[in-house]
Amino acid sequence: MDRREFCQKTLLAALGAAIPALPGCGRRVRTAADADTSIPGISLDGAELELEKAAIKELGESMTGPVILSGHPEYDAARRIWNGMHDKRPALIARCLTPEDVSQAVTFARERELLVAVRGGGHSWPGKSVCDDGLMIDLSQMNTVTADPQTRRARAQGGALLGALDTAALEHGLVTTAGVVSHTGVGGYTLGGGFGRLNRKYGLTIDNLTSAQIVTADGQIRRVSEEQEADLFWAIRGGGGNFGVVTEFEFQLHPFERRLLTGDIIWPIEQARDVLAFYGEWSARLSDEMYVGPALVTPPDGSPSLIMGVLYNGDPVAGEKELAPLRKIGKPVQDAVTMQDYMARQTKDDETFGHGIRSYAKSGMVKEWSQELIDAMLDAYDPRIFLGDHVAGGAVKRVGELDTAFPHRNAEFMLVIAAGWKDPAQDEELIAAARAYYHALEPFMGGYYDNIDFDGSKAAGNYGPAYARLSKIKGQFDPGNLFRLNSNIEPAG
Ligand SMILES: Cc1cc2nc3c(=O)[nH]c(=O)nc-3n(C[C@H](O)[C@H](O)[C@H](O)COP(=O)(O)OP(=O)(O)OC[C@H]3O[C@@H](n4cnc5c(N)ncnc54)[C@H](O)[C@@H]3O)c2cc1C
Repeated sequence: MDRREFCQKTLLAALGAAIPALPGCGRRVRTAADADTSIPGISLDGAELELEKAAIKELGESMTGPVILSGHPEYDAARRIWNGMHDKRPALIARCLTPEDVSQAVTFARERELLVAVRGGGHSWPGKSVCDDGLMIDLSQMNTVTADPQTRRARAQGGALLGALDTAALEHGLVTTAGVVSHTGVGGYTLGGGFGRLNRKYGLTIDNLTSAQIVTADGQIRRVSEEQEADLFWAIRGGGGNFGVVTEFEFQLHPFERRLLTGDIIWPIEQARDVLAFYGEWSARLSDEMYVGPALVTPPDGSPSLIMGVLYNGDPVAGEKELAPLRKIGKPVQDAVTMQDYMARQTKDDETFGHGIRSYAKSGMVKEWSQELIDAMLDAYDPRIFLGDHVAGGAVKRVGELDTAFPHRNAEFMLVIAAGWKDPAQDEELIAAARAYYHALEPFMGGYYDNIDFDGSKAAGNYGPAYARLSKIKGQFDPGNLFRLNSNIEPAG
């Protein structure tokens, strides 16, 4: 490496870590370059390893982004993820700035059989994006999103957040399906499927994925699409982070009017049985433009309520007409469905689901809205628990069961059961409460959403008929199961 290249790399590293470069062309502070001893690591199967000083330095020199070690001023912030329950300490954090950086980090881990965690937006409920004593491949600085109004495509780097995707697309009067909390990562969210308020019209986020760039376990940087590496492209649309590190996602965008009819209608829980019974029949006939998702929520200083989150993606006059029957049921205490900006809606819950809360969640796919389900929801309801509902159907259901690796096309609803709290002393009590509520609803569920499950470890059963093909592709691209901190698919031999 010549002096100019060295300075460039060091400058990029300093920018990535937000640390000022020192005079004399930027010596890094407590990064790989400063490793003065070997450090302990952990192998893929849990054995202790020694990471040699020379190898760590070499990794540092091969990357434009910094390799952060314990003691670096950014180490603690870098290892922290959204769910405050997970307090893990990686041996190394490779803060990647380019696909080539990712490739170097992947190769380093594979050659040593070192445990790897890949961090996109860091919103993994079960904390799969961080690990003790392994290598964290940190994509948080690879967070740029661009949108092209001519081709109606957006390109999002592997560590981008959903808010950046929405913002870039909306600037051109375009949109694609994105989830309901804007600080969620595009990476994990997309690879698991991607539910949002527009999915009845445009499908899941994976249904809008047109191509991706991925670094596979062999360190190769590949472009995948229907035309190129079609098997791998199929697998990443639902198969999670099993197949490599996605460094760029390309999405189809759709023309979109950002001012639209949206907001919440709220009823006291005493009226929930009637409203939910009506909802079951009524929602089965809704247009693809209409999204109405029920939730049972108890605010800290309030009483249990049923909330219907509404969004109509189309002519508001038609939306008002379609919504009218729901508004006539019972006596809502609040009806805040009005013309609003889509981005205001998409960021409304950002604070409620803020970083650092301790949280436990489970999910389940529901094919049918029945009276028995409503009874179970209400009879077992626990005010400490949040019950949310992502509505599917529409365009989600029109994609064939095995056209992508997402296995639950027939479901009409995806229920989310979650608890959030601050005090670690409440961990046990609230996890138990969420589990108890989940078990009351489990008989009505068929499988779960991989992206929202704290202890989902039944990948084979949950992927159903897609699993055999997934396992074969895993065997082809990740035979050593390097990418195992996810809803893990066993590589076929
Ligand atoms: C507050 C909150 C709101 C949510 N809302 C929704 C919603 O509206 N709709 C919905 O469908 N889901 C939602 N989810 C679930 C969400 O889809 C998952 O938590 C998802 O895994 C988050 O992705 P991430 O990149 O932020 O997570 P991370 O913690 O970074 O990663 C999650 C998993 O994906 C892998 N991964 C991440 N990025 C990459 C990449 N670029 N390449 C390869 N592997 C990668 C990780 O290794 C890990 O296994 C929400 C979650 C939270 C916490």
